[in-house]
Amino acid sequence: MTPKIKSKLPKVGVSIFTEMSALAAKENAVNLSQGFPDFPIDPKLTQYLEEASAKGFNQYLPMAGFIDLREAIAKKIIDAHDSEYDIDTEITVTSGATQAIFTTIATLISPGDEVIIIEPAYDCYEPAIELFGGIVKRLSLHKPDYKIDWQQLKNLISSKTKLMIFNNPNNPSGQILRETDIQELIKLIKDTNIILLSDEVYENITFDNQQHLSFVRYPELKERSFVIASFGKLLHITGWKLGYILAPKNLMTEYNKAHQFNVFCANAPAQYAVAKYMKQTTDYTEIATMYQSKRDYFRKAISETGFKLLNCESTYFQSVDFSAISDLGDKEFCYNLTQNYNVAGIPFSAFYHNFIDEKVIRFCFAKKQETLDQAIENLLKLKI
Ligand code: PMP
Ligand code: GLN
Repeated sequence: MTPKIKSKLPKVGVSIFTEMSALAAKENAVNLSQGFPDFPIDPKLTQYLEEASAKGFNQYLPMAGFIDLREAIAKKIIDAHDSEYDIDTEITVTSGATQAIFTTIATLISPGDEVIIIEPAYDCYEPAIELFGGIVKRLSLHKPDYKIDWQQLKNLISSKTKLMIFNNPNNPSGQILRETDIQELIKLIKDTNIILLSDEVYENITFDNQQHLSFVRYPELKERSFVIASFGKLLHITGWKLGYILAPKNLMTEYNKAHQFNVFCANAPAQYAVAKYMKQTTDYTEIATMYQSKRDYFRKAISETGFKLLNCESTYFQSVDFSAISDLGDKEFCYNLTQNYNVAGIPFSAFYHNFIDEKVIRFCFAKKQETLDQAIENLLKLKI
């Protein structure tokens, strides 16, 4: 008989992204729920991936990653933010941002340590904290602008606060931190031992000439931050599961101790391909331009429905308030929309531990034109 085990994550089921993508497939609906691009990637990336394997680039790499890739990452950060990270001791290539986040939490959190997160929160933070016995403290932000109240955040800090997690640009709200926010944060952590984890996977997707203020730019933040990025977002290759983490040497040394027993090293052919691709790329700004035109197209079309568009400053998610269309709860509304209008989205309540329902849902617009047009045609049936 299989022994019974006591779940360490009794409240966790399948993620909302899995649930809604499965429902979209079952209903044959346009899937604007889980965030992933459905357009082809640059053929050069495919070519380099094939080339890597054909050339015999199929074995373990150094734990911290392929040196050419770490060089390319270091250069990208200098170019974008004028901030230096040592390629031998301060950059580690990871199996996507999710692994980097999990391993950071594994590295830092012992039972009883408190971790502050900000809701609506991406789904992978809280379960990882709980697995290591950490205690989650939450600040909830609300529609329409999801701005941080810094006094409220300060009130959550205690002598047990080990880590604060920020997700900037933010999934799902699409908001970005301003210079004033950064200065508040600098004041907040001054004279504390709090470590920061900055999940910046949407760093290159900001709109209307708004600048992404990476924690790597601010010495007072950089000295205590793990900064995480994802090639899934940068190069439209979410399935390659490749990303990286940056931290000052003393923090990274501890991170790498856990990383080596977690994955040892990330996928070798993918690292080769991305390194070769990045060597030829100096400009990452067209990603934002491309997504901005998709955002604008989608927003313009949807503005003719009963959905109220929330601000979208960044990421590839457009959030909408549906309270003028329906009294249903947000998850029920998403089910209804998928089953009856054939468009799947994500309910915002899934990003709050207590399922706060403010009648807001999220659509992913990282889609080819025909997908967007099909979604729009279906959603226009909600015209009021
Ligand atoms: N953080 C955020 C905010 C995300 O939206 C995602 C998912 N795309 C991740 C982390 C995970 O990234 P990856 O697919 O590289 O693991
Ligand atoms: N980051 C993606 C999103 O927000 C989901 C990735 C996943 O399914 N884990 O939709």
